[in-house]
Amino acid sequence: MFDTVIRNGTVVTADEVFPADVGIVGERIAALGEALEGTTEIDARGCYVLPGGIDPHVHLQMPQGAFVSADDFASGTAAAALGGTTTVIDFVEPAPEEPLLAAFEKRRAQADGRVAVDYGLHMTIPAWHAGQPAVLNALDAVVAAGMPSFKLYMAYAGLHLDDVQLYRAMAAIAKAGGLPIVHCENGPLCDALRADALSHGETSPIHHAFTRPPRQEAEAVGRAIDVAALAGAPLYVVHISCAEALARVQDARAGGEDVYGETCPQYLFLNAQLLDQPGGERLICAPPLREPEDNEALWEGLSGGDVDVLSTDHCPFTAAEKAGHAAFTTIPGGVPSIEARLSLAHTFGQPRGMSLPRWVEVCCSNPARIFGLERKGRVIPGFDADLVVFDPERWVRIEAGQTLHERVDWSPYEGLHVQGWPRDVFSRGRAVVRDGAFVGQAGWGQFVARGGS
Ligand code: MN
Repeated sequence: MFDTVIRNGTVVTADEVFPADVGIVGERIAALGEALEGTTEIDARGCYVLPGGIDPHVHLQMPQGAFVSADDFASGTAAAALGGTTTVIDFVEPAPEEPLLAAFEKRRAQADGRVAVDYGLHMTIPAWHAGQPAVLNALDAVVAAGMPSFKLYMAYAGLHLDDVQLYRAMAAIAKAGGLPIVHCENGPLCDALRADALSHGETSPIHHAFTRPPRQEAEAVGRAIDVAALAGAPLYVVHISCAEALARVQDARAGGEDVYGETCPQYLFLNAQLLDQPGGERLICAPPLREPEDNEALWEGLSGGDVDVLSTDHCPFTAAEKAGHAAFTTIPGGVPSIEARLSLAHTFGQPRGMSLPRWVEVCCSNPARIFGLERKGRVIPGFDADLVVFDPERWVRIEAGQTLHERVDWSPYEGLHVQGWPRDVFSRGRAVVRDGAFVGQAGWGQFVARGGS
């Protein structure tokens, strides 16, 4: 007798699709089989049973200048759960001179007791820290605290690393058994192009895209790949936005290099022309939106192999916070999508050749494997009972504040009809969503210490 049995569903993993009951004991998956019996039984006939989604790139209650992203750890993780995501990985962003582990404790204090599902943290190494040998020599302690992934920025004044800092940080991360995850844009070049645009009176949102062109992103991706190789480090390229940048990743992988690629829904569904339309300022994010051909190149990478992960880079700001700026340069950057990720990929991936196992691989299993979530991302006995009963026949019209529960008054996907939505969601054996309604509890989620290589 199991505590809970999810009966009659079709289990979808990164490898296969098969009918099975899933038995849960306590917080773990205990068995897969036929006619399992449980104290509680959930009928999943007609539904898929997936490992819980893992979104390894989110920014909850993140300060950005005078603004703070609109979802906090409670609202953002509840929205994640409703969308079938049972683990998120957010970021520690240390202030100049702040010890990395002190910043970690502060970030945990914001999340613990509030999160509805499990979470991990990446450690950012900002420019000040990257210049301190004592900081770089002590990354073992960060890995030991459960953060084997380190965010490095090649853009944004005050944050971005120059090539020497990038090399030294990557070498130190590799030595500690960690993974550098890198925002690849040529920050100084973009800053110059932005200043030029402003000096010519080019202040509208479309100039955000013009001043961060694809070639500079591709240059930064290529440089990150080369510097990582020189430093003996693996590399994870976050939020690839365009075909030219993806091509650099493909070349490196074809040469056998240890390079991972990630993209996000905004780079699959949206294009730069939208920046010129009413409300275009809401869609400012970096890298910027690109062209329809870039969308298709990224779909192909996601369906076919060279893009390993679909994350969201969820970083919501309200319509009012985005509006009314004299120039695009002061608009807070980032878009929401923490809740609709699985359904968007399910609906629009399959017509582009993404199989059901590949869908699970890029949304669940690959992020678990790449980021050291050792008991998540698979439906096998002994793993955490993070499970999604996904109804592939349920149609949902995306509406901010209605069908979505992100704490933001707009969605880039407003009005879009998606096929398939999570019906029931379990986090370590506990129901957090039942019949599409949130039944979880702030504080159920825990910090997950991840393993290094
Ligand atoms: Mn980000």
